[in-house]
Amino acid sequence: MCAVIPAQTLYRTKKYQEVSNMHRRRIDGHVHLIPKREPGWIDPITQYRHDAYGMLRTPLGDRRRLPPYMADSAFEAGTLMEVMEEYGVEKAVLMARLESGVPEAALDAVKRYPGRIAGAVCVEIRREGEAQLQEWHSRGIGIVKFEMRGLNELYGKLEICDPAMMRLFGKAEELGMIVVIDPGPVAFPSYSPEQISTVLHTYPALKLVICHMGLPFYGLREHAGLYEKWRAMIGLGSCSRVWFDVTAMPDLFEEEGYPYSEALTYFKELLDICGPDRVIWGTDIPGTFRRATYSQMIEVFERCDFLDGQDKDKLFYENANQLYFNGENESEFTR
Ligand SMILES: [Zn+2]
Repeated sequence: MCAVIPAQTLYRTKKYQEVSNMHRRRIDGHVHLIPKREPGWIDPITQYRHDAYGMLRTPLGDRRRLPPYMADSAFEAGTLMEVMEEYGVEKAVLMARLESGVPEAALDAVKRYPGRIAGAVCVEIRREGEAQLQEWHSRGIGIVKFEMRGLNELYGKLEICDPAMMRLFGKAEELGMIVVIDPGPVAFPSYSPEQISTVLHTYPALKLVICHMGLPFYGLREHAGLYEKWRAMIGLGSCSRVWFDVTAMPDLFEEEGYPYSEALTYFKELLDICGPDRVIWGTDIPGTFRRATYSQMIEVFERCDFLDGQDKDKLFYENANQLYFNGENESEFTR
């Protein structure tokens, strides 16, 4: 007689993983929360106006940051958890953005879903930043994110090695916080592998994550100067304290579209430098839902023929678990 094995047990068995790679353990290493607001709400930090159907109105123009079917322009922790349950994702890392209320929402989610959510914050750069960092750390936040394009819009010209930024990197190192940098587009003035290298040399214990594979884009190799800049950025992957999150392909390679074959060639170049232990899969939802489904964002990398099963386990789970969750293997999802 054949016993029925519960699905929760089955998905962890080696045999089942061999026949169904959809049941690989997964951590989404880069997602965002968008708290619910009244349509027309103006953010006191950015002055951006948040309208219904995912529209964001900024001094630089209007853009839709969510699919139009998200009528209330929100993506809250409860919705994220439903997405994670649907696609078998155990844990997620909430990335910060320059928007008021977002760090509080991240902290709330960390506490509401123990072991399943890690949260990042953004802090003030020029004035209270170090004190804010200390405060967030004492409340249980272990990651700080710097989004260079947004910071430049807010503060004017701001370089990675700005003295105020350097003080914050030093504070993060002192507190043992992980620093995540989105350097902005390759052509952006503050996109500087050299300055990130300076940060790494100045703070020898700092662990640093570079977002979106260093932001390659469709057709990058046809732009020799930019391609060389990107190569210098991924060259930082030779340092054992640097990780790359492999996220936002639907945005960066929008013109190419699924299954993002060219994007994977850049991923291969990155892997050749930093190896399979320091790449972290993620989706950058909910914004990327405008251009791809969650399944597609998994499948792109599941179908990578230059990764074996062990490499995929690292990409989809183990690397993020070690870095963001201290290697903890117990969460409500696995019990
Ligand atoms: Zn993001």
